[in-house]
Amino acid sequence: GSYPSSSPIESYLRRIHAEIAELKDGKPYSSIPAMANVDPNNFGIALATADGYVYEVGDTREEFSIQSISKPFTYGLALADRGMEAVDAKVDVEPSGDSFNEISLAEGTGRPANAMINAGALTATSLVRSSGGSTRFKRILNTYSAFAGRQLSVSERIYRSELKSGHRNHALAYLLRSFDIIESDPAPVIKDYFRQCSVMVNALDLAMMAATLANSGRNPLSGDQVLDIESVERVLSVMATCGMYDDAGAWLSSVGMPAKSGVGGGTIAVLPGQVGLAVYSPPLDEHGSSVRGVATSQRISHDMQLHFVRAARTGR
Ligand code: GLU
Repeated sequence: GSYPSSSPIESYLRRIHAEIAELKDGKPYSSIPAMANVDPNNFGIALATADGYVYEVGDTREEFSIQSISKPFTYGLALADRGMEAVDAKVDVEPSGDSFNEISLAEGTGRPANAMINAGALTATSLVRSSGGSTRFKRILNTYSAFAGRQLSVSERIYRSELKSGHRNHALAYLLRSFDIIESDPAPVIKDYFRQCSVMVNALDLAMMAATLANSGRNPLSGDQVLDIESVERVLSVMATCGMYDDAGAWLSSVGMPAKSGVGGGTIAVLPGQVGLAVYSPPLDEHGSSVRGVATSQRISHDMQLHFVRAARTGR
């Protein structure tokens, strides 16, 4: 948080926003019918420092479904609820190098490779407790809301659309049940997973969620300790190695920050102790990541020296 004033950063963001808006590659996600007719020109960038300064440009108040960016936050909640050992017994922490919906289960045990691919994410959802009159999903939604610093809600339309069309996730959950990786009835787990993917956010929300991770699990504006530091450390480690699926190695090389993408067009990146970055732009590349999200993150990481190696050198 060593930025002198908002104006140089905001004019910098306006400049790269205009440049990267020229990138017209990729297509919005269409496998969930309710998501297919989004405006591909939507483009917003939001940057939030770990001490709560926010810089934004473009469509940062436009809402979209969080999709897979939900995964690290649910994983964190599962870790806090069950403890690391119990969660590790169910979900490994190895990058699979596979795409998000790969059926990536260990032979014999069925243990998913990590919590960022769908198999591991479904398992993490199953591990979140219901407690004190709160359902499992209510706790998930309240956790995301505390990360964002405002009350979030679900798009019923997108939820229902994925519940109808997400055959592979239904199959994955039942396969996980057959291995006793998921120990409860898969049907409500699938519903809660689709609901968590359908939580509506904007780029500003995602930047605050990322900044809360950057700030060791404490929301910099509300002061709310949303997640304990051990769980944050684990979540950011798994984001660094697995958050960008089969693009994770190239991402860490070029951007150098733990990150997560979602097929709704959102991307977050976290520089621990410093900053949370969020980009919204729906057209996706072949890995299921936002084309402009990747370009913007690379650009900002380079220009602001946020790659973990440079950030350490410059003491940023
Ligand atoms: N809801 C999507 C799925 O589970 C999320 C995929 C993603 O954002 O990568 O297939």
